[in-house]
Amino acid sequence: MSIANVAVIGAGTMGQGIAQLFAQHGYTTWIHDVRDGAAEQARQRIAQALDKRVTKGRMTTEDAATALSRVNVANSLGDLAEADLVVEAVVEDLDVKRALFAELEGLCRADTLLCTNTSSLSVTEIAAELHTPQRFAGLHFFNPATAMKLVEVVSTDATTHNTRRALHDFARTLGKTPVDVSDSPGFIVNRCARPFYSEALWLLEHGTTSAATIDVCLKSGGGFPLGPFELIDLVGLDISLRATETVWRAFDHHPRFRPSPLVADKVATGQLGRKSGAGFYHYG
Ligand code: NAD
Repeated sequence: MSIANVAVIGAGTMGQGIAQLFAQHGYTTWIHDVRDGAAEQARQRIAQALDKRVTKGRMTTEDAATALSRVNVANSLGDLAEADLVVEAVVEDLDVKRALFAELEGLCRADTLLCTNTSSLSVTEIAAELHTPQRFAGLHFFNPATAMKLVEVVSTDATTHNTRRALHDFARTLGKTPVDVSDSPGFIVNRCARPFYSEALWLLEHGTTSAATIDVCLKSGGGFPLGPFELIDLVGLDISLRATETVWRAFDHHPRFRPSPLVADKVATGQLGRKSGAGFYHYG
């Protein structure tokens, strides 16, 4: 099938980046969020991000203006009825995602590809109540979506070969490297990342050293582009905590995947990382 019109639902950290990515690559892009004004705000942030690319010489002024002109705000889900592909990037909550896809199934064409950007929920469980799960899959982008090359294409037993192939082809048009992943807790990247975070959090919990020192060590000594605490702040502490809890539950509360009380406490007090202005670091 040919993909020209794409929709992104959820205008938070990921939705904004994914919408910008789609628009930069020539797709007519719709963005929708339940929060009043959130989609319009995301469009403004996309405009700023595109301006920054122009300033850095990565894009011409004309290309930036064209990309922005492709980003449309959808006031209701009904505006997305003509989408060829929908990517959901709403809050990491199984019931919310299920309800959303149940509604989309009734609104979109029968051949619209329906995708979730979940980082850790079971794609099979999200699709469990769909009548047409063959066109459903995980399309897992990484943060920041415009820069990170990898896309995990997560299939369930019901996802067809054609759906998978269409998603791989689509991801390649975005300059991404798609990989096939079967549905399993945390998929590949988030599964391997859990012990990376938890070991760093364990050091911090035991007062061994500071978050900043751990970050410096892993960047300067380990070659990581960001330290674990910088990365948790970028991802969002709430999102990171949800992913850890999902993997922990899936492995019978194995201590290796135990969620850290340090993260839980910060989430409880609204310190969600960069998006809230504070997490392990403060942001002006
Ligand atoms: P976020 O909290 O920044 O944004 C979520 C947005 O969804 C909010 O703007 C909220 O208003 C909106 N929303 C909630 N319910 C909605 C609904 N029913 N309909 C429309 N909009 C709704 O979250 P995020 O970090 O962008 O994460 C979104 C998804 O992407 C999650 O599933 C997460 O696991 C996944 N993900 C996150 C990252 C990351 O680094 N943050 C990376 C990869 C994948």
